[in-house]
Amino acid sequence: MNLPASLNDRAAWLRGGDACCNISAPPAAHPKRLVLLGAPGVGKGTQAELLSRHFGACQLSTGDIFRAAKNTRESELSPAMKCALECMRKGELVTDETVLALVAERSGCLNCGGGFLLDGFPRTVSQAEALEKVLAARNLKLDAAISYELPLESVVARLGGRRTCMKCKAVFHLESRPPAKAGICDHCGSVLEQREDDKPDAIRVRMAAYQRSTAPLCDFYHRKELLVRIHADGTPEQIFARTADGLASSKSSSCL
Ligand code: AMP
Repeated sequence: MNLPASLNDRAAWLRGGDACCNISAPPAAHPKRLVLLGAPGVGKGTQAELLSRHFGACQLSTGDIFRAAKNTRESELSPAMKCALECMRKGELVTDETVLALVAERSGCLNCGGGFLLDGFPRTVSQAEALEKVLAARNLKLDAAISYELPLESVVARLGGRRTCMKCKAVFHLESRPPAKAGICDHCGSVLEQREDDKPDAIRVRMAAYQRSTAPLCDFYHRKELLVRIHADGTPEQIFARTADGLASSKSSSCL
């Protein structure tokens, strides 16, 4: 499946500071504001791209902020960012303090006219509580938290075969979504690589971090009646159709 190009360039999110987006989706009548949950490799990023295209909402991934920082010269990285990149390389979670500081710097992105899809954030209950406060301060409300769910063994198999374009961030899979030409990105022609944190040792650490810190978020959003559970087996299109149905029948779906 060829994923469409994003409607937003996400410069403000990825680079922070004074960076502005050159393209962004036109304001939506009912902007969608969603949190995407699920173990690494479950297909959240692919669904985020499809949902972004469908709703015009901007995909805000904290993992992408760290990957973008990897291309920054070492001397320009703050000590906190260096430490964050080291955690990421090992597959560990970055501290809540660092992640929340980065999100706070970029909180203007939460007012994006097309809405937002938070992908990879929040990852802990304390990040979720902090997000609630940031949204309340901006008079914004979440529409839903979508949890993509798959058995652990399937997740590990998916992660091991994943290959990512380091330039445009498109994601492929050696078996389920191979690029037309082996090792080359279909979209921009750059070389595909295996993310350091998709290597076997890092995968084990990431899955343990997920079980410990992120799985409890499902209870958090369930209690708030925002949780929409989606079975994440099948093609990206099938999972997307399930997501649209799940959102349409969720409590907060009156504007779909
Ligand atoms: P992802 O692409 O979302 O899987 O993120 C890649 C890596 O970035 C994770 O394994 C963590 O090291 C780090 N990371 C991204 N988002 C967060 C977050 N919200 N909290 C802690 N660490 C994060």
